[in-house]
Amino acid sequence: MNHSRSEAAFAAAGEILSGGVNSPVRAFKAVGGSPVFMNEASGARIKDIDGNEYIDFVGSWGPMVVGHAHPEVVSMLQTLVARGTSFGTPTELETELGRRVVSMVPSIERVRFVNSGTEATMTAIRLARAVTERPKIIKFTGCYHGHSDSLLANAGSGVMTLGIPSSPGVTEGTVADTITVPYNSLPAVRDIFTQIGDQVAAVILEPIAGNMGVIPPAIGFLQGLRDMTREHGALLIFDEVISGFRVAPGGAQEFYGVTPDLTCLGKIVGGGLPVGAFGGRKDLMDHLAPNGPVYQAGTLSGNPLAMGAGIATLEVLSNPDSYQKLDHLGSQLENGLRSAAESAGVPVHINRVGSMMTGFFQDGPVTNFETAAASNTDRYGVYHQKMLASGVYLAPSQFEATFVSLAHTEADIATAGDAAAAALKAIA
Ligand SMILES: *Cc1c(COP(=O)(O)O)cnc(C)c1O
Repeated sequence: MNHSRSEAAFAAAGEILSGGVNSPVRAFKAVGGSPVFMNEASGARIKDIDGNEYIDFVGSWGPMVVGHAHPEVVSMLQTLVARGTSFGTPTELETELGRRVVSMVPSIERVRFVNSGTEATMTAIRLARAVTERPKIIKFTGCYHGHSDSLLANAGSGVMTLGIPSSPGVTEGTVADTITVPYNSLPAVRDIFTQIGDQVAAVILEPIAGNMGVIPPAIGFLQGLRDMTREHGALLIFDEVISGFRVAPGGAQEFYGVTPDLTCLGKIVGGGLPVGAFGGRKDLMDHLAPNGPVYQAGTLSGNPLAMGAGIATLEVLSNPDSYQKLDHLGSQLENGLRSAAESAGVPVHINRVGSMMTGFFQDGPVTNFETAAASNTDRYGVYHQKMLASGVYLAPSQFEATFVSLAHTEADIATAGDAAAAALKAIA
């Protein structure tokens, strides 16, 4: 497979863009080789500028759950784009997407749209601190909540991939109110509440971790957090930027039956355009300006194209078979990878919830950052290169999710399974 154009494009980008990319993990540093420059995608297929085609299991890192360039999304965007792309006024599209979010996500009575997941979590934290009049936030090592300063302590995603504990440029003062504890450890959270419970504004987490590879919540973990936050007057914030609309219509909170106070959304809710959102009970959300004093704003927030792509995507997802189909395809992918690993004799531990999964190159179990970090990342790098060469596009990091979409077919999954079998045999 020839990647000469991509290689040249990356060299050219490096002379113009910092690091040649606009988001670090795209640079392929964790898997070796040069990033593949894509320029076209349809359904489950994505094509690079050298003309190579891949079955895509990245889905733009989560948003493309109905597949690329879905006809309903494209047609919605075509209709809207000709009418103008941003007015800086309210539009009915915002209410329309908002109505869907409110009706689907159990915890959300009022919602606000922003431009990214980062903005959603950043503002949810501000709101939680304002409402509780407390400073401290509890987060979990390996959970990623975007790149706002106070949430960059011990984060997952690219921060984990590049081995950065937190980022230079974030002052000690800024992270002083961020307390980090191991994922899936209720005792660690209980300790903090016992010591300084009256200072904790909120506990924020990915209810299904997706940024240290996929790690489901242990049985009772989410309910335990719900009980503890309630007991101590702190808010529970679910960052469902990945899990929202992916594991169930109402996200992880519906899937596990635990309702947080505030929910952060992103990725799927924008259908591939830049969108984030956060919401919760009306009494909490009423603290936001203009009803209340907590400030938040956005020039392009709720812009018609982004709202339209979200509406069309949620409409496609509203087909009653959607989540069953996503789970079925996810399970087929899991089984294919497991049998490929077993027959090659290469240890791969698989965590999966519906259409999101990670095969960790190790024996497992993988329940938190520490156990995830014990994966053989060199092996993953080789695996990634071999899969790419056989036309399967995986995330260029061990610590990310593999996503399937409604556009994948059983044949696509079978092809990926065969490719995995060959790659793992070569690795063994
Ligand atoms: C992607 C992600 C974010 C950040 O969203 P951006 O749109 O990249 O700012 C926040 N939280 C989680 C769980 C994410 O996966």
